[in-house]
Amino acid sequence: MAIAILAVAGLAYYWLLVDSGPASIPPRTFDMAAVRRAADAFPGDKPTAIHFALVASREVPSAALAAGTGFRPTTAGVIAWKIEAPGGSIVIDPGLSRADALATGFKDYDPAAAALVERWIDEAGLILLTHAHLDHVGLFLDHPRFDGIMGKAILTPGMLATINALYRENGSHIKGTRSLAPIEAIAPGVVLIQTPGHTPASEMIFVKLANGREFLFAGDTASLAFNIEKAVPRSRLLTDFLVQEDRHAVIGWVKALHALEKKEPRLVILPSHDADWIGDAAAEKGFSIAPDLAPKAPPAAAASSPPLGHRPELTLAKPLQPA
Ligand SMILES: [Zn+2]
Ligand SMILES: [Zn+2]
Repeated sequence: MAIAILAVAGLAYYWLLVDSGPASIPPRTFDMAAVRRAADAFPGDKPTAIHFALVASREVPSAALAAGTGFRPTTAGVIAWKIEAPGGSIVIDPGLSRADALATGFKDYDPAAAALVERWIDEAGLILLTHAHLDHVGLFLDHPRFDGIMGKAILTPGMLATINALYRENGSHIKGTRSLAPIEAIAPGVVLIQTPGHTPASEMIFVKLANGREFLFAGDTASLAFNIEKAVPRSRLLTDFLVQEDRHAVIGWVKALHALEKKEPRLVILPSHDADWIGDAAAEKGFSIAPDLAPKAPPAAAASSPPLGHRPELTLAKPLQPA
């Protein structure tokens, strides 16, 4: 009897947290030639920099967000992005309020980061969302000047449907949506790619900077760098029970991201919630923490010369420890 129970528990564990299948799902493809053509064809000067703000974080077992990657704790972060551009800045995935963070288990919350994102929204020309789940859209929907800023958001009809399912008063104020082609430029160097799966209206966002660096915001199709590196979706515990998504479509997209990363190692694919990876990769990959949130070096340490072999830029680029 005990053995039978253990066997069932083992199978359930495997099914919910380890299995990354079905393995037979064919990969989707990204038409990167078309994406780049669209990015270059949009008239105007391309963006100049990419900054991020860690709004909230929590420790989760890696296997929850990337099936089969074990119980090693990883930092799941709610990360908001700002694209600096001459024609007007762009905010991507603003994050969520403190109340919603606590309600969804993100116990480390940075009110300074949230206040900064609120200012980013006030100043931005555009607001883009990889999808409309609360941890990505919350600070947009809860913005204190919502009726003044809502018109900056590019919302497809499918995204509005996901927003409506959140039952927020401000969501009912939204007037217009915009239907988009599968690949459509929205600003110089910035292209939205429709990648339904995690939600029916999920997008990835391609950004080409004026310096030639290229980025792809993968959204929750790839929550962790592991999803891309190992071509695995989130665990069934998440995809089938906690957040219902089209697992087959997502598997097709993670296989496509995996192939794209292999083929184009210079393209920086940004996972949505991988706070550790984003903090570690920033300097090398050509983006950075928002200057307002960057830890300041103590004056004495900054003035003295570093010891041999010490690389101060790496020491300083560890901004993601929750305060
Ligand atoms: Zn999501
Ligand atoms: Zn998310």
